[in-house]
Amino acid sequence: MAVERTLSIIKPDATERNITGKINQRFEDAGLRIVAQRRLQLTTEQAQAFYAVHKERPFYNDLVAFMTSGPVVAQVLEGENAIEKNREVMGATDPSKADQGTIRADFAKNIEANSVHGSDSPETAREEIKFFFSNIDIVG
Ligand code: ATP
Ligand code: MG
Repeated sequence: MAVERTLSIIKPDATERNITGKINQRFEDAGLRIVAQRRLQLTTEQAQAFYAVHKERPFYNDLVAFMTSGPVVAQVLEGENAIEKNREVMGATDPSKADQGTIRADFAKNIEANSVHGSDSPETAREEIKFFFSNIDIVG
């Protein structure tokens, strides 16, 4: 298995409840290293661009409004098989369907305010990491 990097976002529902440390603990307990991290307030244009792949979906406008409703923490996670491992640690998109012990089962409020984002493929991970970080920001 290869060492990979994936883009993670701790979403506004989690920053609002001050549980970023609890979420980071889940990543570290799973063997993922936080090799870059930045707290920021997304603009509408930035959130629209980040989620452009979902532009035609009925939830797109609500999702953009939610992602700009408060600060987020963007981070690069590194580890063996990091992309898939992070998605396991996150759990299913809909917290009512997420496995026990996952971040979304334990912390998400609903299918939209689901506490975390994680890249879904190596290509997406590369693009999404570039969206938030330069190489000089990532220290593995
Ligand atoms: P993410 O991309 O955030 O890691 P995901 O890959 O599990 O999550 P996607 O299908 O890519 O889910 O959807 C992106 C985000 O859009 C979800 O995380 C959630 O915040 C929101 N979302 C997805 N489906 C719905 C829905 N049916 N209703 C409302 N919001 C949704
Ligand atoms: Mg996704």
